[in-house]
Amino acid sequence: MKRRKDKRRIIKMGTRKKVHAYVRVKPTDEFAYEMITFGEDNKSIDIHIKKDGRRGTVNNQQTDWSFKLDGVLHDASQDCVYDTVAKEVVAQALDGYNGTIMCYGQTGAGKTYTMTGTTENYKHRGILPRALQQVFRMIEERPTHSITVRVSYLEIYNETLFDLLSTLPYVGNSDTPMSIVESPQGIFVKGLSVHMTGREEDAFSLLFEGETNRIIASHTMNKNSSRSHCIFTIYIEAHSRSLSDEKYVTSKINLVDLAGSERVGKTGSEGQILKEATYINKSLSFLEQAIIALGDRKREHVPFRQCKLTHALKDSLGGNCNMVIVANVYGEATQLDETLSSLRFASRMKLITTEPSINEKYDAERMVKNLEKELILLKQELAIHDSLANRAMVTYDPMDEVQIAEINSQVRRYLDGSLEEIDIINLRQIQEVFNQFKVILSLQEQEVEANLRRKYTLINKNDYATITAVQKAGLVDVEGNTVGETDGQGFGLGIAPFSAKPGKKGKIKKSYKDIPGALGKKDGLLSPVSGKDGESISTSRTQLLSSSKEADVKDVLSRDREASGSEPLASDSPKEDSRITRPATPPPKPSAFEEFKNERGSEINRIFKQNKTILNDRRKKASETAQRINSIKKEIDTTKEALDVQKNFREEQGEYENKGLMIIDEEEFLLILKLKELKKQYRGEYQDLHDLKAEIQYCQHLVDQCRQRLLTEFDIWYNESFLIPEEMQASLKAKGSIRLGLFPLTKLTSLAEDDEEKFGQIQASVLPDCPDSVSFYNARMKFDQKQNYSKTMASFQNKTSGLNPTVLKEKSQSDNNLP
Ligand code: ADP
Ligand code: MG
Repeated sequence: MKRRKDKRRIIKMGTRKKVHAYVRVKPTDEFAYEMITFGEDNKSIDIHIKKDGRRGTVNNQQTDWSFKLDGVLHDASQDCVYDTVAKEVVAQALDGYNGTIMCYGQTGAGKTYTMTGTTENYKHRGILPRALQQVFRMIEERPTHSITVRVSYLEIYNETLFDLLSTLPYVGNSDTPMSIVESPQGIFVKGLSVHMTGREEDAFSLLFEGETNRIIASHTMNKNSSRSHCIFTIYIEAHSRSLSDEKYVTSKINLVDLAGSERVGKTGSEGQILKEATYINKSLSFLEQAIIALGDRKREHVPFRQCKLTHALKDSLGGNCNMVIVANVYGEATQLDETLSSLRFASRMKLITTEPSINEKYDAERMVKNLEKELILLKQELAIHDSLANRAMVTYDPMDEVQIAEINSQVRRYLDGSLEEIDIINLRQIQEVFNQFKVILSLQEQEVEANLRRKYTLINKNDYATITAVQKAGLVDVEGNTVGETDGQGFGLGIAPFSAKPGKKGKIKKSYKDIPGALGKKDGLLSPVSGKDGESISTSRTQLLSSSKEADVKDVLSRDREASGSEPLASDSPKEDSRITRPATPPPKPSAFEEFKNERGSEINRIFKQNKTILNDRRKKASETAQRINSIKKEIDTTKEALDVQKNFREEQGEYENKGLMIIDEEEFLLILKLKELKKQYRGEYQDLHDLKAEIQYCQHLVDQCRQRLLTEFDIWYNESFLIPEEMQASLKAKGSIRLGLFPLTKLTSLAEDDEEKFGQIQASVLPDCPDSVSFYNARMKFDQKQNYSKTMASFQNKTSGLNPTVLKEKSQSDNNLP
């Protein structure tokens, strides 16, 4: 289509043409031979006016003019005029070129004679009937084409449009008020009847009908017919009779009999006449303005819409049509002024260039039919090729659901390796294979995400408020990764309440048993460190790690933030990234570890330290209790000894007995009471010691886990910050929230390199022959990378049993069973 368009433009560019201007001099017995002379080439006309003696000695009046035109028609027959002026324009109209022929001149100079001629005398018929004749003759000469002819006849009088053929039956809407409409197809007069004529004869009757109406109207409506413009239009549409040709051409020939060009002053008219004359002058001077603008190639705007005449002729003046003007003049000396004015107009017209071009159109219905035919032919051709190549049973119809499902299964088998290659059958099948790759890939993506969502609470990366809140709560690091156990079960790391953060020291409860709701719960989300808000923190931790609803997270976090009023952490802003300035060589691990503890790992480090403090505190208490137990034990021993002494003494003295009851003295009695009290104390302290030991064991476990966590996090951070190439991080991380730092560097680099190299090789070998395979291989590579990832991650998680979620869960549950 595009190429066709370009071709069309070439035609246009190659045929720039000047407007053809002719002068026709009306025969007269009083021809002013001394004033009007014609050039020998029959193309020039010279006017000479004798000096006006009355104007005195100083007389600057111009007296000589010379006009060069395309032809001077003096004493020319109607026949000759037609051949000179119109024949070529009409001939080209049948090839698709628009044409316009206009007669200009003062009233009585022969415009109507030239255009219409006499309707009584065939010999004196004008351009109009001759043009119709030529059109029908040419149609007869072109049996290869089906050509339709339509005509319309428009009169413009006092800026009003009249349909000169309105008296004839017409299929269109004849009630519509007439108006000039611009459409993509061009200018047309809405409401103007356009009549199809199949024969020359019919066309003539239409012309006569119009002429008669023109004359009648001039009488009944008190119109002066010489003051109206008449436009007779012949519309031609030529389709090739060969159905394979979808192109067809359209054209129109505008034959314009303009109103008299004489100026108002000369007629001396008044009232109605003056109004008419003014109009005539106005529309003709607008025509002149439009023509001047068309002649000036620098001017972009042409004032076509100033009056009905120029508006109606917008696409027939200049533009893409063949254009001819005939200036009708008198040969008498008395009319020389008007003759001069008409000649000036004609020579101005000559300055206009037009770019006639074929109005080529495409028959949509034919195009569809032809394409259908071609399709059938090509299918037959394919069938022959298939049978020659022994490829039976290949269909080329659109695939049904069963076939698509089969391709889906093939692609799946191909991806998991159980099918080595997918045979190429036809183009539709290849397209469907690609499509199924896409389908499977997007399914896998969804699965990966669903898995992640099942395990983690995913926070939108752009939701800075939530990320900041979660970071503050110590649940994620600046990268947005969850701190703590990877499966979200928690492993008793514990979250310090905000009130216990450095600089906002919270109260640490004295007794292990006093930790509210912390122990004895089976969720394993224990906090050995608790502040006044301990319960709510424990809850928030549970919700954060088990809830998938972001709203809940936000809610709880904002509550926590309000309750704690803690100051933002250094890593508050998600835009801050310590890895932006990466050193060329990785820093030594010990110093990096110190840095990590102060920055990225500060939260884990803080929890680690707090747990250690609690552990030390419990240990100290335990040793104090043990000391107390020892001293109580000593006292019990001494009390026992003293009692023994007393007993021996009493036995030596002889025992007192009263009604079977042993009488003991007061001293011995007090000793017995003391011993009882001491034993009670001993048992109490011993129980405390037992409890403290359990608590110490539990705290020790937490401290160990914190240490482990701190080190793991440090390793991840160190790998990501200094070791894993940034491009790899970017390309691999885009696939999901996988923590690259978790993987051994060697595995990671080899993974990406292997895959990329492998597919690079495949592409290099396959691409030149099969450029469409790019998307296929890209999809394949991404898919394989993703699968390798899942495998690596799974094996890595199995190896790091210390981080194994199930083991940890069991551990924390057994911890809960402590006294
Ligand atoms: P216009 O339309 O310009 O007002 P017309 O065409 O009506 O002028 O001409 C006025 C009269 O002159 C008509 O009677 C017409 O027949 C006659 N006439 C004009 N030109 C010629 C010509 N070239 N040969 C013979 N008669 C002519
Ligand atoms: Mg006339």
